[in-house]
Amino acid sequence: MASLPLSSAVSKDRQARVGLGLAASIAASYVALHIYAVFYLELTGWGLAAAMLLVPVLCWLNVGLFIVAHDCMHGSLAPGRPALNRWVGRVALALYAGFWFDRFVAKHHAHHRHAGTADVPACR
Ligand SMILES: [Zn+2]
Repeated sequence: MASLPLSSAVSKDRQARVGLGLAASIAASYVALHIYAVFYLELTGWGLAAAMLLVPVLCWLNVGLFIVAHDCMHGSLAPGRPALNRWVGRVALALYAGFWFDRFVAKHHAHHRHAGTADVPACR
């Protein structure tokens, strides 16, 4: 492996710290709000109004989980750390929709190779 200039290595470390921090914030927020909405939120009075706000927030966080998983599939969440990207991607994709990252990532890369053609695989 070729060594990187110091500024590039520092930049990659910073990118990894920021990415991992945002990924942890998204996952923790999603799990906490999901548990609250499913087990504790009463659908009467203000709870009903809160539910109408929680649905788009949970949807936004769910999309964020896929974006985190997508960054992991391309190795850009934590550059130069494939094992860390794989594990964060596994958690994010499992939370997103219960998909298995290791199976999904191969089809995702095939999707990029064959975008716009009839050879695009199903991403499940
Ligand atoms: Zn992609």
